[in-house]
Amino acid sequence: MAVREAAREALDAIIVGAGIAGLYQLHRLRELGLRATVIEAAGGIGGTWYWNSYPGARCDIPSMSYSYSFSPELEQEWEWTEKYPAQPEVLRYLEHVAERFDLLRDITLGSRVTAARFDETAARWTVTTDPGGDLTARFLILATGCLSVPKLPETPGLDRYRGRVHLTARWGTGKAGFDGLRVGVIGTGSSGVQVIPVIAEQAAELTVFQRTPSFCIPAGNRPLDAAEVAAMKAGYRQWREAQRTSGFGIPSDPPARSALEVSAAERDAAYQAGWERGDLTSLIGSFTDVLVSREANETAAEFVRAKIRAAVGDPGLANALSPRTYPIGTKRPCLDSGYYATFNKSHVRLVDLRATPLQEFTPAGVRTTQREHELDAIVLATGFDALTGAIAAIDIRGRDGAVLADAWRDGPRNYLGLAVAGFPNLFTVTGPLSPSVLSNMMVSIEQHVEWIAGCIAAMAAAGHRTIEATGRAQDNWVRHVAMVGAVTLFPSADSWYTGANVPGKPRVFLPYLGGVGEYRRACDRVAARGYQGFALA
Ligand SMILES: Cc1cc2nc3c(=O)[nH]c(=O)nc-3n(C[C@H](O)[C@H](O)[C@H](O)COP(=O)(O)OP(=O)(O)OC[C@H]3O[C@@H](n4cnc5c(N)ncnc54)[C@H](O)[C@@H]3O)c2cc1C
Repeated sequence: MAVREAAREALDAIIVGAGIAGLYQLHRLRELGLRATVIEAAGGIGGTWYWNSYPGARCDIPSMSYSYSFSPELEQEWEWTEKYPAQPEVLRYLEHVAERFDLLRDITLGSRVTAARFDETAARWTVTTDPGGDLTARFLILATGCLSVPKLPETPGLDRYRGRVHLTARWGTGKAGFDGLRVGVIGTGSSGVQVIPVIAEQAAELTVFQRTPSFCIPAGNRPLDAAEVAAMKAGYRQWREAQRTSGFGIPSDPPARSALEVSAAERDAAYQAGWERGDLTSLIGSFTDVLVSREANETAAEFVRAKIRAAVGDPGLANALSPRTYPIGTKRPCLDSGYYATFNKSHVRLVDLRATPLQEFTPAGVRTTQREHELDAIVLATGFDALTGAIAAIDIRGRDGAVLADAWRDGPRNYLGLAVAGFPNLFTVTGPLSPSVLSNMMVSIEQHVEWIAGCIAAMAAAGHRTIEATGRAQDNWVRHVAMVGAVTLFPSADSWYTGANVPGKPRVFLPYLGGVGEYRRACDRVAARGYQGFALA
């Protein structure tokens, strides 16, 4: 599809991506009276919630918290139906937002941004789109998503396999059925954990290929009742404020005690309460030191392993499903809607790829070091090139022709996770080295979008043409993010937070762990001090 003609007129900003971030950024810039356009590779808006339409796909932050807070009217009129909304409901919500705020007229779908070049004389970005050609704007805002570039398995031979192949992150809109089929699912991260119980209900045989097991907490998903919705809506403003000042964008009482200073019975009672709350953070957040002390962490990990043993009948299978190679919480935990129970079904098998690694795809299925597994369909739930993948995929050239991919060869370098030295007037929404994936992303996205809009408005008011992070501020920020991460157990895990899932990717702990409240204050302070750490011209 051609880039909309209106987009070619003098633009203030080009926004890449029409997910939660790109939609809101467009709205915010329009409110400032700016001309902005959104370029989106997908055939529809919604980003994550467009692409990941696999059966069982579900948000694992409560719906009423994983929703925009910028419009009290929107908050009041939208009716969420479940504690954890399924993908179609989140997508419907985002489509409603796009319609309600008349966003679609400035969004070009089916067009990919392949390159961007900063012209220092004109102080403008020239952005190449495919299809669509070039367009230019003063600002370039990458709302390209932290988890938008799927990662395929390294195992050779996929092109020789003759059965059906599905990628959870590119599922498409057709209803793929698995009735009576022999299905293999590769990957047991969040998407695998969600898709496996649903496919197990249809398939004649389901083989799950697991490299690293996940820690799963029961979701306890349920329909929302009218009274709780009304109560939430009545107190929405206070709730939103609490989200913004919290640690992970989910209000909670901070723990006061170490897991090692209480009795085993007290500890288990606290973990049990977290377990029953059915969310991502309560169990891990029961004590001050679960994410910083190996010994404390092991008490939480063992609590969950005991639950796995209780849920899975076969002790050998329970053992294989129990994570032991990383501390709990340092890889993305999952919410369980029937995952462990699925392994009690006689037609579901687990293949432990640590014991018998995948060797190749064959025309009939996959071969491990032990044997060939014949399969009618393979589902790849193999994760993403997280946080940096979508940015690195664009050929971005800044001042003096500097190439962003080169500047980030040893890991991403930026200031506040928002701007990169040498790349003026370029912003990244929830980029690496910001709280991003270690938060309720709705909260982090809104904060970045609003900060960027505020910055652009302040520049206009002061008559500045360019803003650029200084090298010094950037160095300090990169050091600070690493230092805060190093206090915790996170960097010790081979996870997508550290880039360990992508061969050759530099090992850097990518999100900022300072907490969304602290981080917001830091960003606001920078703005209040006249964009300290930035050069304005
Ligand atoms: C299966 C799944 C479940 C998740 N569940 C949760 C959850 O429960 N809670 C939570 O907080 N977060 C969750 N996330 C993270 C989720 O990505 C964010 O919450 C949020 O949706 C991100 O919005 P975004 O707009 O920043 O990025 P995205 O939704 O990823 O949108 C980015 C868009 O940019 C487009 N794009 C990228 N590069 C280009 C290019 N070069 N040219 C044109 N278009 C481009 C992509 O096609 C995409 O549509 C989940 C992610 C996945 C994959």
